[in-house]
Amino acid sequence: MLVFSTVDKIRLFLRMERESGRRIAFVPTMGALHEGHLSLIRRAISENDICVCSIFVNPIQFNEIEDFNKYPRPLEKDLNALKKEGCHAVFVPEVKEIYPENSKALIKIELGNISEVLEGKHRPGHFDGVVRVVKRLFDIVEPHCAYFGQKDYQQYLVICTMTEYFDLKIQIIMHPIIRAKDGLALSSRNVRLSSEERIIAPLLYHTLQKAAHDLSFQSAEEVKKNALIVLEKEKNLQCEYFEVVNAVNLQTIHGKIPKNRQVLLCAAIRLGTVRLIDNILITM
Ligand code: AMP
Repeated sequence: MLVFSTVDKIRLFLRMERESGRRIAFVPTMGALHEGHLSLIRRAISENDICVCSIFVNPIQFNEIEDFNKYPRPLEKDLNALKKEGCHAVFVPEVKEIYPENSKALIKIELGNISEVLEGKHRPGHFDGVVRVVKRLFDIVEPHCAYFGQKDYQQYLVICTMTEYFDLKIQIIMHPIIRAKDGLALSSRNVRLSSEERIIAPLLYHTLQKAAHDLSFQSAEEVKKNALIVLEKEKNLQCEYFEVVNAVNLQTIHGKIPKNRQVLLCAAIRLGTVRLIDNILITM
């Protein structure tokens, strides 16, 4: 497995691979890799010739400096895990490689509703940071396709919008959420949960599951109200949002949902210092 830290070197390597006709897949990550990340890597390897993974904790997509500072960075362990999976190349750049002074990387595109609701509302500027880093990484790697987790469904939609906006010839592929046995969606931040918080954490998914089930006979408003009663009143959790939205445009759904509609149930809660997000995608 090749490990690159500079833009010039990885570009040179990938140019040769591209010219040899190899199909290049890209999996951008912030490291602290778990089974969720590794399942993306495995799929990227199985469906393409070359798999490139990036590990970069992007400072400009964090809203809280504490979250950025405390973000786990077990680089050796990550590199070993990627090597074991058979990943071909890893890009581990310093901040100055991604954001050089006088860079033209400062892009701001109009993403509209998709970036303003849900995570966008609670994490102002987050998606501007995501778009900027992913566009820069796409320009460096120039992959044929890139894999993103459903865990960050809104991010996936934002990246699809960005890709269309710049007319990039990159196929964006979404991969399902990988969970612990008790249902908790795997996340690099889970290691910061205390043992008590870790026991409570799967409730987020269980509440989403019940809501998804109840949507077949209750209105979106009723389902949301009941979920908030469980999370906030009964379990005393701090819920940032719990929403039932149209999976295509993320607009809030009202009333009873018609058949065949693609629906996203999504929520964010805070457990101690950790913010957890999760979602379920269903077709009614
Ligand atoms: P991150 O390192 O958190 O930026 O995540 C890198 C990629 O892995 C993103 O596309 C995430 O959506 C994806 N990912 C993170 N957690 C999971 C999970 N539990 N299951 C599937 N994909 C995930």
